[in-house]
Amino acid sequence: MGVSENLNSIKNTTPQHIKIVAVSKTKPVSVLQEAYEAGQRIFGENKVQELQEKHEVLPKDIEWHMIGHLQTNKVKYIAPFVSLIHAVDSLKLLKEINKQALKNNRKISVLIQFHIAKEESKFGLSKDKAVKILTDPEFTSLKNIVVKGVMGMATHTSNVDQIAKEFCQLESIFQDLKNTLFNKAHQFTEISMGMSSDFKIAIKHGSTMIRVGSLIFGNRNYEKK
Ligand SMILES: *Cc1c(COP(=O)(O)O)cnc(C)c1O
Repeated sequence: MGVSENLNSIKNTTPQHIKIVAVSKTKPVSVLQEAYEAGQRIFGENKVQELQEKHEVLPKDIEWHMIGHLQTNKVKYIAPFVSLIHAVDSLKLLKEINKQALKNNRKISVLIQFHIAKEESKFGLSKDKAVKILTDPEFTSLKNIVVKGVMGMATHTSNVDQIAKEFCQLESIFQDLKNTLFNKAHQFTEISMGMSSDFKIAIKHGSTMIRVGSLIFGNRNYEKK
């Protein structure tokens, strides 16, 4: 099956309001072009340089999402054009994104990443840590950041109950934050969860944005985080 057939079969089983981020990391521009011609407009990458290079050559109405861990010193390269940064998990990074957004005279949308999986990971916050950051005056004074919601990755397992439990946990964190800190913020709307292997479970548990790579583009030749 080709890229456009793969995209269509995902679209046909996904409710309309859910955004599909086509995760194109490691894939050549020609393959992204094929997805673009099939109507895809949101692409996700996890490396700054690759994101920059692809943005450079592909049509300008594409929404580029940075889905991977972002180093502070690299924010400046994507700040002029990035639509959404998914994996933000520190005040330091928020401050740098705000600074670069200001320099580019724009606001940059971000999601706060939560650690919901069983696996050990350096990335993603606990709810307590997130609340601490989001109520810190150093954060609340940042005017060029829009926090649009939350993001998380479930444990890599075939245990559906475990995955469902983790997605429920993220949904509940989202609701808690929405009801408390983001009371009046209509922009706090997104739950980015679900990948090729688990997006159907994620949708059942409240995902608004799925990040799908291999199911659209086929397996990647090399796998890097
Ligand atoms: C690579 C990646 C995906 C997509 O993974 P697939 O299993 O190929 O769908 C989703 N989210 C993040 C953060 C990724 O790094």
